[in-house]
Amino acid sequence: MRIGVFVCHCGTNIGGTVDSHQVAEEAKQFPHVAYSTDYLYTCSEPGQQEIQQAIKEHNLDGVVVAACSPIMHENTFRRTIERAGLNRYMFEMANIREHCSWIGEDKEANTRKAIELVRMAVAKVANNVHLHPSYFDVNKRVLVIGAGVAGMQAALDCAEGGLDVVLVEKKSSIGGRMAQLDKTFPTVDCSICILGPKMVDVGQHDKIKLYTYSEIEDISGYVGNYTVKIRRKATYVDWAKCTGCGLCMEKCPSKKAFDYHNEGVAYTTAINIPFPQAIPKKARIDPKYCRQFTKGKCGVCAKVCPVGAINYEMEDEIITEEVGAIIVATGYGLMNIEELGEYGAGRYPDVITGIQYERLLNASGPTQGHIVRPSDGEEPKRIVFISCAGSRDLSLGRPYCSNFCCMYIAKQAILTRDHIPNSDVYVFYIDIRAPGKGYEEFVRRAQEEYGAQYIRGRVSRVYPRGRHMIVKGVDTLLGTQVEVDADLVVLATAATCAPGAEELAEKLRISYDGYGFYIESHPKLRPVETNTSGIFLAGACQGPKDIPASVGQGSAAASKVLALFSKDKLESDPQIAQVDESRCIGCLKCAETCPFGAIEERELRDGRIVARVIETVCQGCGLCTATCPPGAIQLQQFTDNQIIAEVEALCQAWKERSSG
Ligand SMILES: Cc1cc2nc3c(=O)[nH]c(=O)nc-3n(C[C@H](O)[C@H](O)[C@H](O)COP(=O)(O)OP(=O)(O)OC[C@H]3O[C@@H](n4cnc5c(N)ncnc54)[C@H](O)[C@@H]3O)c2cc1C
Ligand code: SF4
Ligand code: SF4
Repeated sequence: MRIGVFVCHCGTNIGGTVDSHQVAEEAKQFPHVAYSTDYLYTCSEPGQQEIQQAIKEHNLDGVVVAACSPIMHENTFRRTIERAGLNRYMFEMANIREHCSWIGEDKEANTRKAIELVRMAVAKVANNVHLHPSYFDVNKRVLVIGAGVAGMQAALDCAEGGLDVVLVEKKSSIGGRMAQLDKTFPTVDCSICILGPKMVDVGQHDKIKLYTYSEIEDISGYVGNYTVKIRRKATYVDWAKCTGCGLCMEKCPSKKAFDYHNEGVAYTTAINIPFPQAIPKKARIDPKYCRQFTKGKCGVCAKVCPVGAINYEMEDEIITEEVGAIIVATGYGLMNIEELGEYGAGRYPDVITGIQYERLLNASGPTQGHIVRPSDGEEPKRIVFISCAGSRDLSLGRPYCSNFCCMYIAKQAILTRDHIPNSDVYVFYIDIRAPGKGYEEFVRRAQEEYGAQYIRGRVSRVYPRGRHMIVKGVDTLLGTQVEVDADLVVLATAATCAPGAEELAEKLRISYDGYGFYIESHPKLRPVETNTSGIFLAGACQGPKDIPASVGQGSAAASKVLALFSKDKLESDPQIAQVDESRCIGCLKCAETCPFGAIEERELRDGRIVARVIETVCQGCGLCTATCPPGAIQLQQFTDNQIIAEVEALCQAWKERSSG
């Protein structure tokens, strides 16, 4: 075999602490190496051309590039050698950047390690075989999970691009958090006025099949061919008949049901339509509060409903949909206010959350837009906003920034002074984060034009005194203690992952971070992709994000799906597991281990049971190969022989060094 070795300097990234030239010189001595050189930037266009030229000039049939992480560049180099006529799997990468130069200062030791990594890669490529992808059909339908502004944007863009979309939302209406907001920063335009028409577009689009009050039960399959089971939860109202007239709501005697849309600042009826602009505008019974369910008698709604839509016997329904790609847009949650004991949250009615305040400001909210104190319904005159309530707080396990609070506090401060011009508004902050377009100017407006008094410092305690709440903190700029006598305290509580985010991630087999936010494939280069092929992310499910960023990501995810579906056939990676049927004893331990359900049982003609790998489902993780007792299942390109060749190359080097 004739192998070429190309050692990269990556400028000083590698060259600063690894002698790339020496690595290339040493590699000339390794078995099968016909050509070896070093280059300043191997991934650059001239760098790739040099590889292609060397393949031709030196008649190479295998290539090793010693450079950075294969996650970044393996595909780039595979394409490079393919353009020069080699099979793309006759390629190996030695990661001498992350594994050598970036982790040690000792140039000599790093260089030695780099030489050994190259030696192993050469031994491996000498044992590589030509692999060829197979091709499979794509089902050009897309599933979008979550119908907040990000999911709706993604669904609309996909539908406008000609795709059939299945949109699943767990609440009874689409709209997400944005439907709860009053105005939006930095333009202070009415949230539902811009969202409402989009919601109607989603509801009426003939390419969007909408399942609200529904959740994902199970997902199986692979990119291009996913099977999704959706649980349509019982609403106890036949939505095909319900006209959204609201008569049932009017007459329902159970009027103390928790009002999710209004974040509990008001009550609703057991049968309810969440808000006037809801899409679909259909009623749903909350059985927790319904007298028919809790007491076994009532039936008022069934009696008054003019179209006979009430059905107390309704049960959940499981529906199956086939799609080729999935966009996850499940948004965020908000931390439980009771975790913020020092602010009296959850104990005192006049300490509320930002989202509750949003509902009080809203003209179609429970107070018709009048700001009132929950304790006595009076108009507050002094309102204190506390930012970073739970965010950027290591003691609560949430060191991250919730991203939009600084901005919505500025918005709420402006709106407060609009609603109650003679009010005093105080904002306690740690620092102000306003990096978006027009954002810094907006915060300045809150301070200068609207007179919001910003106090830099953390609040240590909030407690009641008479009819007021005392907010005690430090002004770190003046170095003094501050005490504000407030009528109402608004906490910018931390954004968390959406409830159930981790369970959904397990079903989708996508990764999530320690806080439950979904992890993108690469933070800079693949921000809306996940590591599972065909599954994309949009909006705040990936981390707290404001509306412009969520909408942008919704469109970006849609464009990824459209690009994926632009091909009629998809290519499968041939680096998957393969069963040697003559050695397989049919114990199916591999099937038990496989996290993707990629192994099934197969009966041979002689009645023997063996394992069979479903090519399109296998993700090439290799767990099965480590499990199989007789070693009958091998991962293509990572076979025992190839791994042993690498280990032997390393041992050989040690042997030579200790004997020399
Ligand atoms: C008080 C407050 C004020 C704000 N004001 C502004 C503002 O003025 N301007 C601005 O730019 N941003 C503002 N924001 C931020 C804004 O709310 C977010 O940027 C936006 O809602 C993110 O949209 P999203 O679609 O990613 O998530 P969401 O709005 O959270 O939507 C996600 C949707 O997914 C659904 N879902 C969740 N899990 C599942 C599941 N398993 N299956 C099916 N469906 C699921 C949810 O029910 C929801 O409908 C504010 C936030 C708060 C808390
Ligand atoms: S049965 Fe009675 S309590 Fe239940 S939703 Fe209908 S009207 Fe309300
Ligand atoms: S390598 Fe084995 S365990 Fe991993 S996905 Fe493929 S069949 Fe399943």
